Amino acid sequence: MEQITRTTLIHAGKANNVYATTSPDYLELESSDRISAGNGAKKDIVSNKGIANNQISSALFQYLESHGIPTHYVCEGSNPASKIVKKATMIPLEVICRFYAVGSFCKRYGCEKGKKFDTPFVEFTFKHDNPDAPALSDPPIDRKTIPLLSELTLVSDEREVALIEYYTARVGELMREFYIKLGVNLIDFKLEFGRLPSGEIILCDEISPDTCRLIDLKTGESLDKDRFREDLGDVSKGYEEILKRVCDQ
Ligand code: UDP
Repeated sequence: MEQITRTTLIHAGKANNVYATTSPDYLELESSDRISAGNGAKKDIVSNKGIANNQISSALFQYLESHGIPTHYVCEGSNPASKIVKKATMIPLEVICRFYAVGSFCKRYGCEKGKKFDTPFVEFTFKHDNPDAPALSDPPIDRKTIPLLSELTLVSDEREVALIEYYTARVGELMREFYIKLGVNLIDFKLEFGRLPSGEIILCDEISPDTCRLIDLKTGESLDKDRFREDLGDVSKGYEEILKRVCDQ
């Protein structure tokens, strides 16, 4: 493959930086040490989080790709916190997969924390990054509504919604197998998808302790961003511990 080199910064998000490259078909995605919660209300820096997240995410994307999930991952980037990815048009959905009822699921329905679901439970939220309407903050969206919204015309019909749902549930099964072997219970996670110029829908963004709830099977300790959200102390421990187990496997 041609040599791909990063050029200019085109987007600095809450946790990731996106660079253009010498090829119009590829981007370089860099995970940063920035951490935030509550839609940016709480912010900090966690040293080496960017490297850990990128290494964990890259390992997971390669694992998923080898099990039939199409992803944006191409190869390592110019530094240990970055990777080269295929350039896709992002679909403004956050696709959540849950194995247990926790977090916003319990808040929304007022139910008790900890119920285990029989099969991966998939739901969608509408990623609404409009600074003029911050109150919307990623509302849940019904499967039938998705193809009706003009921002979501990228998802042309309910068949494509079903494909995204299928990929998400399959990613869930594969990730649970992956993490059980590392002594970690995967509670829930969030995915984002994009569309290539060819029309293919692929898995994009990241899968890391920032986007998953991960509990140590032996100790019950949180090894993810909940350490930051809930002030559980030593935020970097979760990222370092997951990275160590992923590298040691
Ligand atoms: N999640 C995420 N980004 C978001 C919202 C959720 O990565 O903007 C992840 C979160 O880390 C968890 C899962 O999706 O692993 C489910 O989160 P939930 O909907 O329960 O929301 P939360 O309680 O995190 O606000």
